[in-house]
Amino acid sequence: MAGVAISHDTIQRANTPVEEELIASEAWLIRIRWWAGLGVLAATGVAAFILRLTLPAVPLCAIGLAILAYNAILYVVLQRRLRVIPRVVKTFERLAQLQMGLDWLAMTLLIHFSGGVESPAILYFFFHIALASILLSSRAAYWFAALSTLLVGGTALLEYGGLLPHVSVMGFAPPGLYRHPPYVAGVLFFFTSTVFVIAYLAAGTTSRMRRRQAQVVELGQRLQRAYGRLQVLYESAQAVNSTLDLQQVLDRLVQGTAEAMGVRACSIRLLDETGARLRVASMYGLSQAYVQKGDLILERNPLAREVMAGKTVVIGDVRNDTRLQYPVEAEAEGIRSMLTVRLRGKSAPLGLMRAYSTEVDHFSEDDATFLSAIANQGSLAIENAMAYQTLGRLDEMKSKFVLMVTHELRSPVSVVRSLLRTITGGYAGALSDQQTEIISRALQRADYLQTLIDDLLDLAAGKSEISQKERSPVSLADAVERIIKRFEVPAQEKNIQLEWRCESAGRSAMVLATAEDIDRVLNNLVSNAVKYTPSDGKVTVTLRRAGGYAHLKVIDTGIGIPDESQSHLFEEFYRAPNAKAQVKEGTGLGLAITRDLVTRYGGRIGVESKVGEGTTFAVILPVLRNSS
Ligand code: ADP
Repeated sequence: MAGVAISHDTIQRANTPVEEELIASEAWLIRIRWWAGLGVLAATGVAAFILRLTLPAVPLCAIGLAILAYNAILYVVLQRRLRVIPRVVKTFERLAQLQMGLDWLAMTLLIHFSGGVESPAILYFFFHIALASILLSSRAAYWFAALSTLLVGGTALLEYGGLLPHVSVMGFAPPGLYRHPPYVAGVLFFFTSTVFVIAYLAAGTTSRMRRRQAQVVELGQRLQRAYGRLQVLYESAQAVNSTLDLQQVLDRLVQGTAEAMGVRACSIRLLDETGARLRVASMYGLSQAYVQKGDLILERNPLAREVMAGKTVVIGDVRNDTRLQYPVEAEAEGIRSMLTVRLRGKSAPLGLMRAYSTEVDHFSEDDATFLSAIANQGSLAIENAMAYQTLGRLDEMKSKFVLMVTHELRSPVSVVRSLLRTITGGYAGALSDQQTEIISRALQRADYLQTLIDDLLDLAAGKSEISQKERSPVSLADAVERIIKRFEVPAQEKNIQLEWRCESAGRSAMVLATAEDIDRVLNNLVSNAVKYTPSDGKVTVTLRRAGGYAHLKVIDTGIGIPDESQSHLFEEFYRAPNAKAQVKEGTGLGLAITRDLVTRYGGRIGVESKVGEGTTFAVILPVLRNSS
């Protein structure tokens, strides 16, 4: 249970239903006893004054009053005990016994003063036997049956023998019946057999009901446990599925499982590349020494072999199971029982998952089913994370490869460009017009190749994280101003108006980054705006700051981007058809690089555009808090 605030209601329900029943019955008995006391008084009055029977009215009234008096005391005592939380069942049991003792005493006196064996009040004992059977144990019911026989029989025999004075109710029954042996024997026989039959029937029914109730309670507890587990399972499934990081998936899985099963520890071992060993991939609740004890070698480990073949294995007591590879270590760790299931992959087994308990024979069939369910779910998450890891590794390899190739290409291409420039500059002798034309085209191609190489290098460098430089606070406004300066001339050449608007708060926006990366982002966006905006257009850069973020926009009145292309813009090498048709130069890598950089700094990039009207790229970057 979470927290310490336990409600009153919870405590009341901390007693078992049978105990609750006992407490409720006591209050109920006190309620009906008022009527019993009043009944004795009323019956005495009716018998004496209306039926005009001769009977000892004073002792009978005294009994009635005594019943009312001790009932009042019982009422007060019960109310006090009810106020004590948590309720102590023992005190209620004692109170029940006290009530019954007093009732029985009152009953015996009532019978004596109303004619002994001739009294019709002896039938009232039957209620008391039934009550004892319901409230107390079966054994107590038989004891009370015997006691009632003893009391009624004893009174009858003592009166018969003259050892106890007989009180006659004159006018009710023929006098002297109590001295009539067949009558006394008959009454005692039927009385005795009836009380025992009542005890037998009531006690039998009550104990059957109690057994049922216990079953229902147990079922309720099991359901509650199952519900608790499902909840933890759901939470851990969510936790597991919320990440693709393999180690995180494994760690969350073992911790969630140990908590859900309420066991000491849980572990996951995965098969190594050779498929011969099971290596610890994640553990929860075990000591470092235990973790480092070694791999499970399939050849030497029959238990692991069984599990990998698909069997769920329960070890009830690690001390006497020969299948364990490390029984001594397990015992030293305080582990007594284990439950192991396979992690079944889509095509081949991945490894195994094990729950550890400090109790002998802890694991039930329910536990086995539960752990298998988790393992099946978990296998999926593990495989997904593994696939993601592999993809990440491939991407990294690809980036490294691109980086290497482009790096190798860079110097020959720049050599080719400078050689071609030497020729077009006339340093290698005069060229015919045709030759100049051809060489210029070659130079253009070489320039494009150079841009492509630079972009590819940027892209690969960003991805491989090889060239991550130290980050430092970079002023966005200063960076934009440098870019504006850089593009003044190209903009003028196309008669494009280049505007820069910065809110005062935006001026102070500092981003923790490298100046090169911020330059690259701005350069890509502004160069695109100028490149894709026809003559006489306008390019505006705005910067403002809000809610811990810098909001940067590059707005142009250019060719726009078709709707269907907008979702592909940030893919590597993608160029929209209208851009391809109107602007020859372009690699389709600039925006991919830009998006990579922006996300790496915790920001986002978005685009809004209409063909023929213009485009707005919006970048949001988190700013340093203390930049004011
Ligand atoms: P490149 O400009 O080298 O083609 P980018 O990755 O920078 O590559 O841009 C990808 C594509 O996005 C461009 O080819 C073009 O179709 C579109 N694009 C980017 N910026 C603009 C813009 N300001 N106006 C219109 N289209 C743009």
